[in-house]
Amino acid sequence: LEKEYQFMVRVRMPGGMLTADQYLALDKLADDYANGTLRITTRQGIQFHGVLKADLKPTIAAINHTLLTTMSACGDVVRNVMTTAAPRRDARHLRLQDDARLLSTALLPKSRGYYQIFLDEEPVAGFDEHDPLYGDTYLPRKFKIGLATPEDNSADVLANDLAFIAVFDEADTLLGYNVAIGGGLGMTHNRADTFPRLASPICFVGPDELENAARWVVSLHRDHGGRTDRKRARLKYVVKDHGLPWCKQQLDTYAGRALDPPRPTDRLHIPELLGWHEQGDGLWWLGVPVPSGRIGDSETSTLRTALREIVERFRVDPVMTAQQDVLLSNVRPEHKDEIDRILAEHRVVPAGALSTFERFALACPALPTCGLALTEAERVREPIVASLDSILRGHGLQDRRISLRITGCPNGCARSYSGDIGLVGRIPGHYAIYVGGDFDGHSLSFRLLERVPEARLGEAFAPLFAGWAEQGLEDEGFGPFCSRLGRDALLAMIGAPDGA
Ligand code: SF4
Repeated sequence: LEKEYQFMVRVRMPGGMLTADQYLALDKLADDYANGTLRITTRQGIQFHGVLKADLKPTIAAINHTLLTTMSACGDVVRNVMTTAAPRRDARHLRLQDDARLLSTALLPKSRGYYQIFLDEEPVAGFDEHDPLYGDTYLPRKFKIGLATPEDNSADVLANDLAFIAVFDEADTLLGYNVAIGGGLGMTHNRADTFPRLASPICFVGPDELENAARWVVSLHRDHGGRTDRKRARLKYVVKDHGLPWCKQQLDTYAGRALDPPRPTDRLHIPELLGWHEQGDGLWWLGVPVPSGRIGDSETSTLRTALREIVERFRVDPVMTAQQDVLLSNVRPEHKDEIDRILAEHRVVPAGALSTFERFALACPALPTCGLALTEAERVREPIVASLDSILRGHGLQDRRISLRITGCPNGCARSYSGDIGLVGRIPGHYAIYVGGDFDGHSLSFRLLERVPEARLGEAFAPLFAGWAEQGLEDEGFGPFCSRLGRDALLAMIGAPDGA
């Protein structure tokens, strides 16, 4: 008897955008082939867990029948392209979402191998498999792209290998894109030469140069990324090892001219996407919180059934966010009350009933589905949020925006090194605490404590939250407060001078 191997299957969907029909088809797959849940990823994709080996091919075929694909959702290629999920029907949002689709399609590998293996496509005689972008050996490792505007960085773009920040004039005409390279949050235990990094601004390109600019940066990764050590095979290490000026010279060479320097822009900002919002075209969207991105039915809430009913009845188009929530778009005003009623009937907690802290808490899947996990993440999110939230409330901080990201290992899939607080699994039941990043994705955090038992996280944070309440500057976020004080002062506050 062969073992019952099971797989995770991930769907590529640029900007997290789905039609109603695509969502309903994916919802059905969750029962047909997976563990009865859909999981929204932190890169606006959807994952199925528990797909048995024998069901792999039919699952992938069924996904392709919905005009979606799993191709390039994994592998050493350009992955799912992220952008703002907000279905605002204005020139800026529409342009970003179109550009995410454009890049997603343009940067697909040319090979037909995927179609031949999973979709039974017959090999075509004489088909030229040569891929001008990926060559014969593809990329050294995965490559991630995100697009934002300064006022909507909900895709947290600086955590990507390549970030495009659109620059518009006051009449909403696109002037071009600031290009930033070398972001990525993964690191490896006990490897000091691996580290999280945020993308650095490097140049500005015109509105029609988006695809070319992406090809230049992907080529930089392809041609100079490490191919002998997989742990260091990301673009960020090319930037670190060769320096940004050298990388700029290479991009100038690919472009055939000296690229312009980045233009000044406003500070990046992450907007509120949950709750009811007007789209600007007479329709509305509803941001529905999805704890840890897990769309399923449980004893406490039948969220999956509620979403299915709403999508089926009102033909709303779901959009997945980088915060692992779902936005139900294109809602007619007369349907809002009925949608609220359905969600309440299924005991789905509305965004307005959640604490601010809970709205912005992310967790990766970790145990039991991720083979790299050292600790729990998704399954301990709720008690950890409850414990820290009660301390925040005790200091009157419950309305302050603060981001919490929990991961089961140092890979940082839930962007644990760039929010206000990161909890990173170190050994079973213990977390390293990272602080000092910021809510809007401008800065990295630093490691404050190395191995804190889950049950003692509250003890570690209580003095820090008290310090923030007493000594924080006006409108200073928790991460920036920690960054201003520095590690030694924070450790003294906690009474753990060695940081153990
Ligand atoms: Fe798995 Fe680690 Fe990524 Fe979590 S952060 S999903 S444990 S690889």
